[in-house]
Amino acid sequence: MASSFRTDAYINGEWRGSAKRFPVYNPATQEVIAQVPDLGASDCEDAIAAADAAFPAWSAKTAKERAAVMRAWYEAMMADADRLAAMITREGGKPLAEAKGEAVYGASFVEWFGEEAKRAYGRTIPTTTPTRRYLTIKQPVGVCCAVTPWNFPMAMITRKAAPAIAAGCTIVLKPPHQTPLTALMLAELAEKAGIPKGVFNVVTTHAGTEEIGRTMCESPIVKKFSFTGSTAVGKKLGALCVGSTVKRISLELGGNAPLLVFADCDMDQAVKGAIACKFRNAGQTCVCANRILVEDNIYDEFSKKLAEAVKALKVGPGDQDGIAIGPLIDMKAMEKVERMVAEAIDAGATPLAGGKPNSVGKQFFTPTVLANVTRAMRVNTEEIFGPVAPLIKFSSEDEAVAIANDTPFGLAGYFFTKDVHRAWRIAERLQYGMISINDGILSNEVVPFGGVKESGLGREGGVEGLEEYLDTKYINFGGFA
Ligand code: NAP
Repeated sequence: MASSFRTDAYINGEWRGSAKRFPVYNPATQEVIAQVPDLGASDCEDAIAAADAAFPAWSAKTAKERAAVMRAWYEAMMADADRLAAMITREGGKPLAEAKGEAVYGASFVEWFGEEAKRAYGRTIPTTTPTRRYLTIKQPVGVCCAVTPWNFPMAMITRKAAPAIAAGCTIVLKPPHQTPLTALMLAELAEKAGIPKGVFNVVTTHAGTEEIGRTMCESPIVKKFSFTGSTAVGKKLGALCVGSTVKRISLELGGNAPLLVFADCDMDQAVKGAIACKFRNAGQTCVCANRILVEDNIYDEFSKKLAEAVKALKVGPGDQDGIAIGPLIDMKAMEKVERMVAEAIDAGATPLAGGKPNSVGKQFFTPTVLANVTRAMRVNTEEIFGPVAPLIKFSSEDEAVAIANDTPFGLAGYFFTKDVHRAWRIAERLQYGMISINDGILSNEVVPFGGVKESGLGREGGVEGLEEYLDTKYINFGGFA
């Protein structure tokens, strides 16, 4: 249980309250945890002005100086990892062990980008003219704004704020209305670590979401906008950015990840990978396997083993021991999952495990395995965002690739095989930004995370993640005799 925590927004190094507030709920119990300021466009403009005022001094520091402050922020996060994890579970619902994993994962971006910004190298380019020399330097893009989702209340923030701040930018964050308290804890730790005022700002809102989004996207002061969330909202905000000031954008959007199980796989490894990939955070991650494609000659055996493993997953509030599946984030999510599963069953799918809400509480869905799923069903074509594994049969490599690629999305793809040549072929043929072979988990701070097609633009993590917050400036040095 989180002990004390901040409930006001954080703008220009000050805690900002408001007469207008909105409730933050515990999704496991529906109890109100806190009332948080419901801010509007003018508060967001204040935060942008603060970030603008802080930019000259922060960007003028050397990367080494910035890294020292970021190190202190990282260490404060690690020292408070248990408190962060308790809050992630309390407002976001995920099991505590997963929340602890997120606290460490979230902090790792701050450590890694602080170090990596020291290596923001430009280059010299061999000249084409004896009287000239060419080079490039890297410079921070300027004031940034970010909007993040609830499914990783901490990591989706640090994956944007850390590269921005390490690069010398300043940032204004709008966290989701479901999980603003973890964001405010990060602000509290930033203050404690000595991140200067105005460098990291958190503007909380619920009713003001649309006006704050518009303010961020249309502000001429803001030079970069980064969004993680649904494809529909990402498209809208991306259009606003381009249509107003042509600012730089990163969009980390929805997925519809396939997980392919070939007959030549290690079956136990595939079952374990499918559980890790599909049921983490009750299926509410953008890189969760949405659908599982299984080769026909092992379909029955794999289905049986997966269903047995899924039935063993314990459902309950995330702060209780041994829980594998916590609540869904809200009733809207519950209704969507219920509807998609009922539709699939009506159309001929067979539940091998689960298939219904769970009696442990209002927002819990029993982990489910559906056999006999067809390509036309919504559980195959749309992101489920719940603990439901639809199984589809395939009979050839070509058919598997065709089903996997038959979607406008392209975030993550997984497959299990022991054939090295097949591994190369499939990795190259799947139209996804990230591929994981024989492993259900793929993200960490050193690798580039992001999608192709309608899953978004840009990358977070890795050297690519830093580039998103740097401009490349070309300098021509002429007049050589
Ligand atoms: P969402 O509705 O798009 O919300 C995400 C964020 O956008 C929230 O902070 C939300 O604020 C804000 N928002 C919503 N409408 C807005 C508007 N008109 N203007 C400005 N901001 C707006 O997404 P979600 O359903 O909560 O999150 C799940 C989605 O995120 C899934 O599709 C998932 O795949 C995707 N996701 C992608 C990644 C990735 O890296 N690619 C990672 C995690 C999640 P409020 O909370 O105030 O409404």
